[in-house]
Formats: sequence, structure tokens, C-alpha cells
Amino acid sequence: MTLNRKFFLGFIRIHILYHAQNENIYGVQMMDALSDHGYKLSPGTLYPILHSLEQEGFLKSQRKNVKGKIRKYYTITPEGQKVLQEAIGKLRELTSEIIE
Ligand SMILES: [Zn+2]
Repeated sequence: MTLNRKFFLGFIRIHILYHAQNENIYGVQMMDALSDHGYKLSPGTLYPILHSLEQEGFLKSQRKNVKGKIRKYYTITPEGQKVLQEAIGKLRELTSEIIE
């Protein structure tokens, strides 16, 4: 992982939680959503992020059969909601100083 990637990892994690709050997300869909924002992530980068968010208890997953293919959907947990709200508050605080 490049230094830039490490730097942006936190933004990416927050962004994933944000989407997982609004809908059930799956890997490829999340890769597309992130690329809309200019983050080109490979599956080799994204999937470990999803797994660690799940292991930390911020996401939970459910396997669904979609046209014969097993797809893993992620949704936010109450813990994830909490950390997302905290992160949004901190972002607001920091960015209001930086962006002004
Ligand atoms: Zn988005």
C-alpha cells in the first residue's frame, strides 16, 4: 500500500460506513462508488478493508444468492453508526478549519 493509500484509508473507511448506513453494500458496488469519487481501489485493497471493518464490529455481512452467485452484502452495525457519527463530527471540526 502506498503512503497516499495509507493516508486516505481513513476517508475510505468512513465513506464505506456511510454507504453501508443507507443500503446493503457489496464489494464491486463499493469499488464503483469509490471510483466515482476518484479512488481507484483494487479488490486486493478493498476486501481487506471490508473484512477489518467487520472484524472490528462496525459492519456485519450476510451472504445472498444472486442469480446463482454468492454475494456478500454488508450493512452497518450500531457500533458502526456510533463511530460514523463520531467521525462525521471530527471531520466537520477539522475540515471547517482547513477549508475556510
Ligand atoms: Zn459515495
